[in-house]
Amino acid sequence: MGAVQKEWGPYWNPVLETLRHERIRKLQLEKFKRIFKWTYERSKFHRGLYENADIRPGDIRSLEDVRRMPMVEKSMMRDIQRKDPFPYGDALCVPLEDVSEFRQTSGTTGQPVYQPDTWQDWEWWAECWAYILWAQGYRPSDRVFIPFGYNVFVAFWAGHYAAEKIGAEVVPGGVLDTQARILKIQELKCTAMMATPTYVLGMADTARKMGIDPSSLTIRRITCAGEPGASIPSTKKRMEDAWGAKVFDHAGATEIGAWCFECEAQSGGLHVNEAFFLVEIQDVETGEYIEEPGRRGKMIITALDREAQPCVRFDSKDLIEWAAEPCPCGRTFRLIKGGVVGRSDDITKVKGVLLAPSAIEEVVRGIDGLSDEFEVIVDKVGDIDRIALKVEILGGREGERPRIETQLKDQLRLKTNLGYNIEFHKYGTLPRYEVKAKRFKDLRKGH
Ligand SMILES: [Zn+2]
Repeated sequence: MGAVQKEWGPYWNPVLETLRHERIRKLQLEKFKRIFKWTYERSKFHRGLYENADIRPGDIRSLEDVRRMPMVEKSMMRDIQRKDPFPYGDALCVPLEDVSEFRQTSGTTGQPVYQPDTWQDWEWWAECWAYILWAQGYRPSDRVFIPFGYNVFVAFWAGHYAAEKIGAEVVPGGVLDTQARILKIQELKCTAMMATPTYVLGMADTARKMGIDPSSLTIRRITCAGEPGASIPSTKKRMEDAWGAKVFDHAGATEIGAWCFECEAQSGGLHVNEAFFLVEIQDVETGEYIEEPGRRGKMIITALDREAQPCVRFDSKDLIEWAAEPCPCGRTFRLIKGGVVGRSDDITKVKGVLLAPSAIEEVVRGIDGLSDEFEVIVDKVGDIDRIALKVEILGGREGERPRIETQLKDQLRLKTNLGYNIEFHKYGTLPRYEVKAKRFKDLRKGH
């Protein structure tokens, strides 16, 4: 295996992934001009935006000029839909008969947005995912299990096609229940898997209840998507320990594409696929653009090659920051530190303190003796915010409650600057989630 791997090489595209950064920037500029012209000429929606902002394709001479262009918000995409050409509306840049794929956003933050793709776009999705899988060590010798029922959402469709594209074998585990999926992995000796962190942990739990130690199965790498867990160190560790596997993060979105990935070096950051995407980071308070590492802002992203319903300067609301150090893997694609660290619209103020729900997850999953499940409820009594955290102690470990409670309180105070009412629940009584979890509930007025 080792010798063969050497022959295959560490990069999916050895030229683009190691290109000097100035050359990547030049490529991004040329591609940006092309997608700008494409949308200006073909999409009424985009042309209207650009004319209002008084900017034309010829005005872009540098990547700094890009900042003068208007951003696109998700709500704008929502407004133009269900009109002709039905159901996409006038951001569609190709004739309707060229559309071969329909997807929609999950709608967790409102009415779903429809996303058309052409066959060429679909090839592009698979190509972007091929970078991800290759960087995470997937090779033609892998047998990849996908424990997921395909739907109108993009989740894992592109991962499936990309695994085939790189020459791996794919086992679709869609309609099976969790127990049957575990047995299928065991029967076929599958070597890799793609799932949400919530499901990776839930599956491990089910396997144990069936008397199967998940680490005794042959899964050696797991690609996560859909939730930030694989970039939260304590959650990642729980998954890796349970499965005896390397767990990798990736981030993508229906309306953007698969824009970043963790590589085998696991350096604590995700590579932006800069050959296909232009990422800008903007300070949420001041509107300044951030080039330097270590300063957090919201991501504005352009998919440089997507043609049916392009994504040009999309305001993603994802909070990210550039990492200071390059990755030891040799890729020149820049790293964002710690993955997507939150969303500008789910950072909430509690007792006047900014709170990112992922910080609570990191603490809970880092404490030995607690199950993987938890729930956070914020409400208001009179004028005072109250925050409750529900956790479960693992069966047989109830005696450790005083130690766990002290550790939990100290860590939460340290990481989030807030005090919590902690409620201990019996193991197995908090809600379990199949795909994405809803663990954070804000019951205050206006939320
Ligand atoms: Zn790397």
